[in-house]
Amino acid sequence: MPNIILLGPPGAGKGTQAKRLVDERAMVQLSTGDMLREAKTSGTEMGKRVSDVMARGELVTDEIVIGLIAEKLSQGAGGGFIFDGFPRTLKQADALGKLLATSGQNLSAVIEMQVDDAALVARITGRFTCGTCGEVYHDQTRPPKVDGTCDACGGHDMKRRADDNESALKTRLMEYYKKTSPLIGYYYAKGQLTSVDGLAEMDVVASSISKVLDKA
Ligand code: ADP
Ligand code: ZN
Repeated sequence: MPNIILLGPPGAGKGTQAKRLVDERAMVQLSTGDMLREAKTSGTEMGKRVSDVMARGELVTDEIVIGLIAEKLSQGAGGGFIFDGFPRTLKQADALGKLLATSGQNLSAVIEMQVDDAALVARITGRFTCGTCGEVYHDQTRPPKVDGTCDACGGHDMKRRADDNESALKTRLMEYYKKTSPLIGYYYAKGQLTSVDGLAEMDVVASSISKVLDKA
């Protein structure tokens, strides 16, 4: 089964594409961002420790996220794994390679989603989600039909992420260029990188990703 990494700056659309692959191909999405936010919501010791770091837009330590991924990998995935928001550093990339090898698996492809910074700022600062079902909305580009009510599930619990503001976003972008973008070169050199235009229509991006998966 194919295991893939979705790589790209915050707001590139990794989560949106990952959710489609979960629905269409029964793949398993491993989002370290989601896992860390869950740890925070459920009030675990680790969740409390990382919550300020995340709100500022900085990366949490490699040890923590590698630990989270190791636990999930040991559970296995029928349709293959989608790594979303992991790895974010070269150390995490090496750890992932080793973890997969130990369980007799490998990485099929790394898909880089390219989006320019101006688009990212616009996408992220207007973003909110339904706290009940996870549907994603945007103040300008995708407001719910009825203000404050989720189109998908009728819920009234709209949420904005603590790090979806301009100052945290600046830090998140800086962290991306400093620590994560070197992974583009790393996977390119290994012959595993495919780049797609993350500014294209959602369906177009999805079909580019599908093509990569069909070859994997
Ligand atoms: P984004 O939408 O910015 O891509 P995520 O939801 O993937 O954000 O992650 C949110 C925050 O969680 C990050 O800014 C960081 O603090 C933390 N985080 C998530 N994944 C990792 C990781 N692999 N390594 C370090 N920190 C991480
Ligand atoms: Zn909803």
